[in-house]
Amino acid sequence: MGRVIAVANQKGGVGKTTTSVNLAAALGRLNKKVLLIDLDPQGNATVAIGVDKDQLNASVFEVLVGEMKAKAAIVHVEQANLDLMPANGDLTAAEVALLEEDMGPKRLRKALRKIRENYDVIIIDCPPTLNMLTLNALASADGILVPVQCEFFALEGLSALMDTIDTVQSQLNATLHIDGLLRTMHDRRNNLANDVSNELVAHFGMKVLQTIIPRNVRLAEAPSYGESILDYDATSNGAIAYLALANELIRKTQL
Ligand code: ADP
Ligand code: MG
Repeated sequence: MGRVIAVANQKGGVGKTTTSVNLAAALGRLNKKVLLIDLDPQGNATVAIGVDKDQLNASVFEVLVGEMKAKAAIVHVEQANLDLMPANGDLTAAEVALLEEDMGPKRLRKALRKIRENYDVIIIDCPPTLNMLTLNALASADGILVPVQCEFFALEGLSALMDTIDTVQSQLNATLHIDGLLRTMHDRRNNLANDVSNELVAHFGMKVLQTIIPRNVRLAEAPSYGESILDYDATSNGAIAYLALANELIRKTQL
């Protein structure tokens, strides 16, 4: 059965979407069958993978509110071994609807039950808040991957996230595991980034992944072409880093 990995951090702009899209593409290249779920109403992952978010016949919204089976909301994209469950602004309405339900946080988990066996890994790109959508992702996940941008306020937000993970473990999903903290947009020449990076390792130890994603302009350019970094520029430092991340996670979580 596929491992479900939620890519989450309530801080915006830390590299969640960039990581979700490019990790999904890298795992596909390494012959893993991957489903990418866009769980952010901004639909950035959907657009980054080359799907028009304003022309969707179905999306994760219909799945969450129970109007559609998960399988029916999956779009096949051009990249090898990669499927997408897309999102757009409609998803905001699901967030509100689910708040009024007891089963609200477990909707996605239930919906994924039937399709998990079709994939080696399911990656969920979370919105930049600890809301009902993120709870759905964490309730569904075997592992959480936390992108961290090594800057001054990075550690502050992490304690709130760790508290949320504890709560999810005790109330929704006892087997949720931290697959790793991922340093993103890293610039080796920046002293502050190096200090924060060291502090992160001192505090979280082995939970910090060895792979570091460098700041790389090609990673920022790729989404506007609707391509993952592996299609856009396979020889860039960004592509090499995301392939290394995929390999590290395959080893670490026996994907
Ligand atoms: P989030 O999903 O956490 O809000 P994004 O993945 O959208 O974050 O990244 C925020 C911005 O930073 C985007 O414009 C993205 O293209 C850019 N970005 C992300 N990772 C990198 C990187 N390693 N190097 C350069 N730019 C990056
Ligand atoms: Mg995002």
